[in-house]
Amino acid sequence: MISVERALATILAGCRPMEFEKIDILDAAGRVIGEDVIAQRDIPAVPNSAKDGYAVRSSDTKEAKARKPLEFRVIETIAAGSLPQKRMNKGQAARVMTGAMIPKGADAVVIREDTEEKGKTVIIKTPVSRGAEVRFAGEDVKKGEPVIKTGSVLRPGHIGMLAALGRAFVTVYQKPRVAILSTGDELVELEADPSPGKIVNSNSYSLAAQVRDCGGIPMMLGIAHDNRSELAEKFQAAGRADVVLSSGGVSVGDYDFVKDVMADSGNAMHFWKVAMRPGKPTAFGSINGVPLFGLPGNPAAVMVSFEQLVRPYLLKMQGHSRIFRQIFKAVSAQSIRKETGFKHFLRAVVQKEGDRYVARMTGEQGSGILKSMVAANAFIVLDENVSSVKKGDEVVLQMLDETMLRTDVPRFE
Ligand code: AMP
Ligand code: MG
Repeated sequence: MISVERALATILAGCRPMEFEKIDILDAAGRVIGEDVIAQRDIPAVPNSAKDGYAVRSSDTKEAKARKPLEFRVIETIAAGSLPQKRMNKGQAARVMTGAMIPKGADAVVIREDTEEKGKTVIIKTPVSRGAEVRFAGEDVKKGEPVIKTGSVLRPGHIGMLAALGRAFVTVYQKPRVAILSTGDELVELEADPSPGKIVNSNSYSLAAQVRDCGGIPMMLGIAHDNRSELAEKFQAAGRADVVLSSGGVSVGDYDFVKDVMADSGNAMHFWKVAMRPGKPTAFGSINGVPLFGLPGNPAAVMVSFEQLVRPYLLKMQGHSRIFRQIFKAVSAQSIRKETGFKHFLRAVVQKEGDRYVARMTGEQGSGILKSMVAANAFIVLDENVSSVKKGDEVVLQMLDETMLRTDVPRFE
């Protein structure tokens, strides 16, 4: 049996990044970029007006006063997107709209609210300084400037920047295809009515959702019966996957054959049994060179094991730099006793109570209690050597859903 930390180190050491693919920027939000983006142009490309108003030569406005306003001749009107037709000379102004190019010779804009329009002329009562209300070329981004670093998760702001730079496609890490196989003679597909002794295969679906949640593409391999040859055959079908997950059949029961298949030639088993609860019967190795996680069968255990070991692996494959859940601290609402020698991941709800955050277990914590995962927004993490927690003690949490922490958001009725 190895510690969670050793297991993680083993798993991550062998993690190879996915290849790249070029995709439409419309599909790129949430993906990890696999290139450095350097601006190939200035944004904005040319000096333009930040406001509706009048472009002028700032030096012409120096003497303007409320008591002694100056009158400028309006030589043209420039809309956003059209080219100025004239060069500006002394005592002249051009009526400009927001985004319109500043004509040659002008270096400032007087906002329309500070002017008085009078037929072919405009009255200006206050001086403006050079550059006032002008957006200079390259003010946002300069040609040659690095704007997005490889490894960044693309958010809407990045997508907008790519568009502004004229990039319709972007290079990202491919999504890993993750084969999911559930094992057990007792399992039936969810369409079937389970006869006595049978249960619905729910693990394939919790795993598929977890895979999607961290950017992977689930490949549903269905159910394998508890016999060695069927298991080996179904695993063969996973050859096209980037990662294989199995659930069940990896414990010490008479019909637990996953480890045996991992021991076949051409396959490998790097470890079996991790000092964690739930999730102890977890194995990691490979099938025909494809990494294989042999996850436990119990419905809560399989999800915890995925969270702790598979999720960081899938995120690392996709180039993410933040591969672990956010750590948070809260006060325990109850006293907890635990055996030493195992790291415990208790399913919990954290919420704000008064001015502190309180963590409370989501009821029964057995590895078969799937309901414990339904309400949980966090795991309370108790280290191997911890034997008890007193009510009111501070505990460490891994946050599964930070948005559920916000109890102080205003309600809209
Ligand atoms: P095993 O490790 O194969 O002995 O499975 C442990 C427990 O998890 C047993 O009670 C199984 O019935 C249950 N189990 C195994 N696989 C699944 C599955 N795919 N969906 C729901 N429960 C499962
Ligand atoms: Mg089984």
